[in-house]
Amino acid sequence: MEKKATEKLYDTDAYAKEFTARVENCEPDDDSFLITLDRTLFFPESGGQTSDRGFISVHGGELLEALDENVAQVSITVTDVQIEDEIIYHRVPSAIAVGTEVCGCIDWDHRFDNMQQHSAEHIFSGTVHRLYGYENVGFHLSDNTVTMDFSGTLDEEQIRNVESIVNRAIYENIEIDVSFPTKEELAETDFRSKKEIEGQMRLVTIPGYDVCACCAPHVHRTGEIGILKVQSFQRYKQGTRVQIICGGRALKLFREEHDLMTKLSNDFSLPFEEIGGRIDDLKDEIYNLKGRLMEADRKLSEIKRSMIPADRKNVLLIEDDYEALAMRKSVNELTDRHPGYCGIFSGNDKDGYRFIVGIKDGDARMALGALQKICNAKGGGSPQMVQGSADNLGEQLLRELWEHFEKD
Ligand SMILES: [Zn+2]
Repeated sequence: MEKKATEKLYDTDAYAKEFTARVENCEPDDDSFLITLDRTLFFPESGGQTSDRGFISVHGGELLEALDENVAQVSITVTDVQIEDEIIYHRVPSAIAVGTEVCGCIDWDHRFDNMQQHSAEHIFSGTVHRLYGYENVGFHLSDNTVTMDFSGTLDEEQIRNVESIVNRAIYENIEIDVSFPTKEELAETDFRSKKEIEGQMRLVTIPGYDVCACCAPHVHRTGEIGILKVQSFQRYKQGTRVQIICGGRALKLFREEHDLMTKLSNDFSLPFEEIGGRIDDLKDEIYNLKGRLMEADRKLSEIKRSMIPADRKNVLLIEDDYEALAMRKSVNELTDRHPGYCGIFSGNDKDGYRFIVGIKDGDARMALGALQKICNAKGGGSPQMVQGSADNLGEQLLRELWEHFEKD
């Protein structure tokens, strides 16, 4: 059967939320079904933007799959929408008979959120193009992230400048125009995204800011975007990747960040503007305290080692937290004084242990073998020294093992 292009209702009315249509085709695909309609409001995944979500409703009994015939109306979830050769495929969990008249309803909050992000992206990309001459070579709009990739390098000042200009365009509340120009009209129009598109070109014009070929739904007026904020930017390939957040998403982020700042302000009893400085001071303080703690640890361990009777063959030390380098140094000192297995274990029964075991004349790998046998320890090393870690190693077990070494 010759497949007919799906009529895209969203092309001319981005604000329609419900529609009626006829099922043209229905085919099983994996554990769900792909249906095509004669027309649809569901925007398919395309141009870097995720698809619309929503429901398709049918009268009970018209579903082919085991559904109760007494149910007056059944809504099934549209989980994904794709486009191929101008035909739009709706993924649904149940089959619907070809010819059935259905009602469709898109998730409007999700759609409007995408429209806010996408229209803002056009103003941003148009402004970058006008001021700095770079192309938008990559666009990604998911439920959490909006990124744009530009063909050249933008610095912080340039990005702040574009951010301000986009927000000015939002305050100006400019009407966004969607048009379907003829070939002659197109030839006289300067616009972005001049890809070879078969068939009718759709132009989205934001007067004074951008003209771009685009198939996605847009807000009527720029004011509906609310706000655009650049979240981050970084070097990407030969250009710059910019992450933005707009509209309702930006308000949500502002709320979260404001709540966090309010909590910090209360915790520190400081106004917002003094929190950054206080955190810098705390970082310095922690750095200095760590240094002093390490020095105290070193002294304590020195005292502990000096208290071990000199005639002791094997030595076992269990410490809460022993820095790796200091641990190695201490094991070396111990093996100079004691001929048997000298082991230092850092950690506790709950979180597990890191360990180093050394021996002057012998094979430390024997101790590792014993540890592997009793507690599945992991590690490796030389005859002089082994190191590793173990999760389920009890302090009691360790002491017994070392007593056993002493008897050998
Ligand atoms: Zn677009």
